[in-house]
Parts: sequence; C-alpha cells; structure tokens
Amino acid sequence: MTEPLISAQNLAKHFDVGSVGFFGLGRPSKLRAVDDVALSIMPGETLGLVGESGCGKSTLGRLLIRLLDPTAGSIRFQGQEITGLGRAAMREFRRSMQIIFQDPYGALNPRMAVEDIIAEPLVIHGAKHDTETRQQVTEMLDRVGLPRRALDRFPHEFSGGQRQRIGIARALILKPRFVVCDEAVSALDVSVQAQIVNLLQDLQRDMGLTYLFIAHDLSVVRHISDRVAVMYLGKVVELAEKRVIYAAPQHPYTRALIAAVPAPHPSQRSRGKREHIAGDIPSALNPPSGCRFHTRCPHVMPICREVAPALAETQPGHQVACHLMTQA
Ligand code: SF4
Repeated sequence: MTEPLISAQNLAKHFDVGSVGFFGLGRPSKLRAVDDVALSIMPGETLGLVGESGCGKSTLGRLLIRLLDPTAGSIRFQGQEITGLGRAAMREFRRSMQIIFQDPYGALNPRMAVEDIIAEPLVIHGAKHDTETRQQVTEMLDRVGLPRRALDRFPHEFSGGQRQRIGIARALILKPRFVVCDEAVSALDVSVQAQIVNLLQDLQRDMGLTYLFIAHDLSVVRHISDRVAVMYLGKVVELAEKRVIYAAPQHPYTRALIAAVPAPHPSQRSRGKREHIAGDIPSALNPPSGCRFHTRCPHVMPICREVAPALAETQPGHQVACHLMTQA
C-alpha cells in the first residue's frame, strides 16, 4: 500500500493568550486551537477539512506545512519526520509545501507587478530575474488561464477570481507536491468558485498535486474532495470518504452541517426531521469538558460531559468521535 504523502500524529497547537479575568489578574490562559489531531493524506488525494470559523482548521493547515510550530505531536512528510526541523533544514521541504490563501488581494503585494509576484518564490529560492525565470512565470500564467499581457499589470487591475489565479500561480511556481488551500474559494462568487475549483482539479491532475482543501461549509468541499474531515473546537470529530460523509454521516455535528447545506433543487430537500446546532461555538480558551460538542448536541448523555470520546473507526475508513457509536 502507498505511504501517505503527509501525516500527523497527536498534533497540538496551544497559544498563550496572557491573563484573563478582571484587570488581567486571572491565570495565564492557553487557546487550544488544535488538540491531539491525527490524520494522513495520500499522494494525489484531496482531503476536505470543514468546520465553523475558529475551529482550528486554518491552524491545522499551517501546522502541517510548518508555517507554525506545533506545541506537541509529530508531522511526517514523504516518510520523513519534519516536526523538529529548523529553518535551514526546512528550506528544501518548503518548496514542496505551499499555501493558497482566502483573500487573494490581501495576499498579493499591491506594489508588485504580476510577473514579480509570481516569480518571487523562485527568486527566494535562488533564481535570477532572467529569461528562464520569465519563461517559467509565463508557463504558469498559461496554466492558470491568465493572458500574458497580465505580466506587467498590478493586482488592483484584476477581478477577485483573476487575483486568485495569480495567487495559485505564485503558490505553484515551485512545483510543490502538497498544497493547503485555505478557504481558497470562500471569498468568491459562486460561479467564480466553480471555475477556480475546476482549475485546481485540472492543476492537480497535470502537476500531481495533493491538497488539503479547507472551507467552512460542506457544499464547497463536496466537488473537490476525495475524503472529508470535520473539525470542531480543535478536534477532528469525523473523517470518511466523501460519499460516506454526505450519504451517511454519523457524528451529530456533521449531520447538522449536512442538514444546513441547501439542496440544489426543492424536490431534493429533506422533509424529515433536520438536526440543528443550537448556540455558538464555545471558546477554545475554555473548551467544554468531555465531548467538546456536548453543550450543543441534541443527543448529549451524562458520559458526554465527563469523558472525551476518542476518534475511532466505526467501519473501514470511517472514523467518528462520539459516545453514541459505542453506547449503541
Ligand atoms: Fe453528542 Fe455525546 Fe456524541 Fe458528543 S459524544 S456528539 S455530546 S452524543
């Protein structure tokens, strides 16, 4: 069986946020953005990662490519442990791991021409501003569907979708193997979202890419993902093949997220009882005891308030963290 391209074990990221309480006299606090996460992504696969804002999915993406240092746990990339590598040792791996951001305008330097924006990663890795670099930039521009006259223009001269194409070209110019798409289409109109998702799929096929595709709603990841992981308050609560997640979700949180996705046609809308999630996501500064979803779960049981459910396989390839799975 093929080895995962990237995998994480017991991965955690806790941020010190200083004192909380009146006049800052409380105890120093930790924000548990990612807590004890394990997952792996196979070569050429797209793993969708979904959850509400603040659930830790962007932090997890940044941890995997070592833009953030983990508090605990391990990350392996192409079979090598990369968790403790310093800047110099990470340099070669960096070429192979890139990120596409949500806000293409904020991520692009408004004072740089498109050619320089796309070439910058090459230059950082030692390339010169010469004909060969220009050739690589031009090829990348073709791949992302932008005209060559774009080279001398500036980001403000482009639409949101075109700016995201520039961001994609910049992320892929080093020919990475693993790309974190962090809400890469979330800020775009629905029709433009579809074009960018199709482009990402074409590029994946042509360049042999592996994606972690982060989004806050399940409808966005549906088209592109092979498997989907659902995060809640720093934990992965369900992970399965896309077909299984959408047809037979098991975790109450996933079921509520699926119920919130509007069906494309009224005839496809469920007339059955829909699961709703009450209230807002609690603070990761002081997460609920036991199952972190227990304050909002319609199926909460006494054990849920005391004991955190482990992510366990309920059938081959389908992992769920919920006491309902073991109490049945
Ligand atoms: Fe709900 Fe309990 Fe399952 Fe958590 S463990 S999702 S509270 S039933």
